[in-house]
Amino acid sequence: MRVVFLGAPGVGKGTQADRIAGQFQVAKISTGDLLREAVRNQTSLGLEAKTYMDQGRLVPDDVVIGLVREKLAQPSCAKGLVLDGFPRTVPQAEELGKALAANGMALDRVVNFQVSREDVVRRLSGRRSCPKCQATFHIDFAKPKVEGVCDRCGERLVQRNDDRREAIETRLKVYDEQTAPLVRYYEERLLLSPVDASGSVDDVFQQLLQVLAAYRPK
Ligand code: AMP
Repeated sequence: MRVVFLGAPGVGKGTQADRIAGQFQVAKISTGDLLREAVRNQTSLGLEAKTYMDQGRLVPDDVVIGLVREKLAQPSCAKGLVLDGFPRTVPQAEELGKALAANGMALDRVVNFQVSREDVVRRLSGRRSCPKCQATFHIDFAKPKVEGVCDRCGERLVQRNDDRREAIETRLKVYDEQTAPLVRYYEERLLLSPVDASGSVDDVFQQLLQVLAAYRPK
């Protein structure tokens, strides 16, 4: 099973990608997570990416494409994969198609997560993240047991730089201009399935299971 999760920032792609990867025992590739790891490790790639990320802009295509190519070549991806946050531009989608084809693979489905703009802003601006174990919470919808403290590892939660107001505005503008054209791109290739992502995590998960049941290779 090879699927792409497409949608604006804050629609819950990452949470669902974790669950689907767990359910089907396939690899999850999140370019956002890979880039944040590079930033934490202060690699030269991470240092280059940080400026873009903090402002809510996209990291250059060649950088993220390189990261994904490296991952795709790993044995863990042979059984299947969920791509979260990649591709985000048409050139990235084209490179992904080529990279998969080179390994004799193709996408089974692209799921388009749909949520109102208002909800997206509320989800992103209230999100709090653990800088140590990367768990995420929300100040209203997924509160930690102790305010401001990670349930999983006890670290103090922070607001990601790109979850601040100004960066959110940029991220949504970037989404409209550079990522939204992928909806049409995958629709034309008959790969797109919409999912209403405004409900609860469980509700969205059930919808995903239905979509994937219909399109998973037997
Ligand atoms: P995310 O966690 O997916 O929202 O990604 C956080 C940030 O990482 C984005 O705002 C971008 O700056 C960068 N990023 C993640 N994925 C990509 C991608 N496919 N192309 C370019 N930049 C990306």
